[in-house]
Amino acid sequence: MATTQQTSASADLACGRVTIDLGALADNWRMLARRAAPAAAAAVVKADAYGIGLEPAARALAEAGCRTFFIAVVEEGVRLRAALPDATIYVLDGLPGGAGDTFAEAQLRPVLGSWPEIEEWAALCRKRSSDLKAALHVDTGMNRLGLTPSEAQRLRRTPDLLAAIAPDLIMSHLACADTPDHPMNRQQLAVFREVRALFPDLPASLANSAGIFLGPDFHFDLVRPGIALYGGSAVSGQPSATRTVVTLEARVLQVREADEGGHVGYGATETISRPSRIAILGTGYADGYHRRASSSDARLGARTYVRGKFAPLVGRISMDLTAIDVTDIPEATRGDWVELFGPNVPVDEVAGHAETIGYELLTALGRRYARTYIGS
Ligand SMILES: *Cc1c(COP(=O)(O)O)cnc(C)c1O
Repeated sequence: MATTQQTSASADLACGRVTIDLGALADNWRMLARRAAPAAAAAVVKADAYGIGLEPAARALAEAGCRTFFIAVVEEGVRLRAALPDATIYVLDGLPGGAGDTFAEAQLRPVLGSWPEIEEWAALCRKRSSDLKAALHVDTGMNRLGLTPSEAQRLRRTPDLLAAIAPDLIMSHLACADTPDHPMNRQQLAVFREVRALFPDLPASLANSAGIFLGPDFHFDLVRPGIALYGGSAVSGQPSATRTVVTLEARVLQVREADEGGHVGYGATETISRPSRIAILGTGYADGYHRRASSSDARLGARTYVRGKFAPLVGRISMDLTAIDVTDIPEATRGDWVELFGPNVPVDEVAGHAETIGYELLTALGRRYARTYIGS
């Protein structure tokens, strides 16, 4: 059964609490791995595993069978190595100048995405006898990280350099996979196939979460899901295909009566249209609950869930406080926990009100929350 592990301030005292279901995380990985088979499934655990906690997430994923992990920066890689001594760990942002020894010592594999990185890594490989490994990143149209196709050809024609770095994976990244009909998907696939043909012996990887749902053409040898592991929606405008992992709740500090015609919050942006009961929650934008999701007379804000019913935000989200309308939930009272996102209010719905994406709400989860891990 679910085990609970308390890792920070007591939930009894905290302004808000985050419950992270590691069993759902493991289930989500297994589901995506089945979907991608016969390709292998890695896990992207950058940015503290999308805000849920790098070490507990990585351990749960490894227990589910995941062997290959992608993080963004070298410090995260060093942390991950301490948690998972045997995992294969790629560093997506590549090799920062002078960081080679850190990579070697922690057995991290840089995802090399520029000519200077390749030269620096080759020099290190020639100097050190230890078994260094790296991936090759090619840009297929996003213009973010990666060798251009012509640089990849140049590398193919420079056998000494290629032999020195001896990459063990070739990868690229899709810009528009969250929009299945976008023509960029097929264009990038075509470019990736061409570049990949230059390195026929290398395993290849193209798909993030959304790429997995584009179908087998996009799977190659290894898929790299991130957001779908954490229960976020991978495909724009569609509900998440995976189980909810993160539930964020805030506590009711007080419930107050407000008169028709009155206003709520900074800027008095929302006018009360009937005698109302307003519950004040002890969490706000300083905790990562984006101010952009606020409500006003002109604009519908996010909604919350309390005592089995939905309650809309009223007025602006403050730094540490948020108001909701509980007029139709008479049993709502001081001390209640209110779901801000989770199984009833999808994180992507709140993100939509904040004009952002679920990724940003998860990675912005505040430090003041009590965190509880269940299902491990
Ligand atoms: C973040 C990232 C992923 C994971 O993307 P999701 O959309 O979260 O699945 C995969 N590959 C690269 C290169 C990334 O930067």
